[in-house]
Amino acid sequence: MPGPSPHQGHHGAEALGPPRTVEVAPGAFAYVQPDGSWWINNAGFLVGSDRITAVDTASTERRTRAFRQAVTAVSPLPVTTVVNTHHHGDHTNGNCLFPEASIIGHVRCREVMVDQRIGGLDAIFGAVEWGELTVTPPDVTFPQQLDLWVGDRAVELRYIGTPAHTTGDVVVWLPAEKVLFAGDLLFNGGTPFALMGSIQGSLAALDAIRGLDPAVIVPGHGGVCGPEAINVVEDYLSWLTDLARDAHGAGASPLDAARQADLGAFAEWLDPERVVGNLHRAYAELDGLPLGSPIDLATAFGDMIAFNGGAPLRCLA
Ligand SMILES: [Zn+2]
Repeated sequence: MPGPSPHQGHHGAEALGPPRTVEVAPGAFAYVQPDGSWWINNAGFLVGSDRITAVDTASTERRTRAFRQAVTAVSPLPVTTVVNTHHHGDHTNGNCLFPEASIIGHVRCREVMVDQRIGGLDAIFGAVEWGELTVTPPDVTFPQQLDLWVGDRAVELRYIGTPAHTTGDVVVWLPAEKVLFAGDLLFNGGTPFALMGSIQGSLAALDAIRGLDPAVIVPGHGGVCGPEAINVVEDYLSWLTDLARDAHGAGASPLDAARQADLGAFAEWLDPERVVGNLHRAYAELDGLPLGSPIDLATAFGDMIAFNGGAPLRCLA
């Protein structure tokens, strides 16, 4: 696993190696972007008989145009549908580069996105070349489940049922092939991040995913995996839950709790400073706030930067 890079932005991204198109079932593809750290997401696409459905886009204009080229390299058919797994900009900033597509997402994905901005995050992530992008929220929304047909393929868009990574997480489930596009409910090799959702809800979401009995999972970040990745993320969230309960009871701040914690093997994962944001969310739940309640994100990100030694968070988007 690569360590922190002395390079920033585009040059650092080149050192990560090119994105990979992985066929996870006949005509179903994951688009995996190394290394899966901040703002470097996975997407996917499903090739039908006369059109294509994409799963998420990317964070920057350059990355989204590369994703479009990767789709075209597989099939010249038009992308007429984009499914957003959640509102985060690494999965949605590039929506505008699919002007011929309907954008589908959970009702709360749209609610958050209509007030979303692109960029303006230098204080947190350093300089990023976002490119020319316009926020484009879903124009088709649903509260629980929406069934798509992509050619002969049944595709279930399922709200995960609880605040988890965000308050509007949708998984894309291919029941015949047992392939799951999990969005950011699963990270593979990166630190899970529930600051904008719920820790306890994230654990419930993992149970829901396990209940589908997926054979192949495309996580929101990191390589394509199997169901074993569910247990690994569950271990982290269980550890985090215990840490939060003990530190909250002892009166430690989230930042102090994170600094004093032994992350063990979790320290090797990408973006370990997310532990601080996760503790902020866990504390809110210990204080009795309903799952997914708005909390002070600026303070949480400030504490993550402090945990990181005061430097902007490593971002190679
Ligand atoms: Zn996300």
